[in-house]
Amino acid sequence: MSVTGLPPYDPQNIFARILRGEIPCKRVHEDGFALAFHDINPQAPVHVLVIPKGAYVSAVDFGATANDAEIAGFWRAVAATAKALGLEEGGYRILSNIGPDGGQEVPHFHVHIFGGKRLGRMVA
Ligand code: IMP
Repeated sequence: MSVTGLPPYDPQNIFARILRGEIPCKRVHEDGFALAFHDINPQAPVHVLVIPKGAYVSAVDFGATANDAEIAGFWRAVAATAKALGLEEGGYRILSNIGPDGGQEVPHFHVHIFGGKRLGRMVA
């Protein structure tokens, strides 16, 4: 079980397969800690996912069990991705869904980056 009570990490999840190069992606940024690629079903003019290279089910698992270098490296990769996308000046939104009630479909921790327009207020 993951630290959030979700099922344990499934190495066959689609993002694990993307990390292994078994499924293609439209890459935006990659470094030793993270991979960023365009969402296959974009919900904004810019919609990119950033995933750590390690095996973590959720944001909470990542915070609880990743080492400091992985955590810092991941968030620096998020910033580098936003910069590569030209979102720094206008800003953007980051979001991470956790578990079924949070709307998480893929059980590999990921951050959504939304941008490219003036986003409205978030509503549940
Ligand atoms: P979640 O609901 O927070 O888990 O978000 C999963 C996201 O992954 C959704 O926005 C999907 O559109 C996206 N997605 C699923 N499969 C792929 C893929 O193969 N490539 C890129 N994005 C994907």
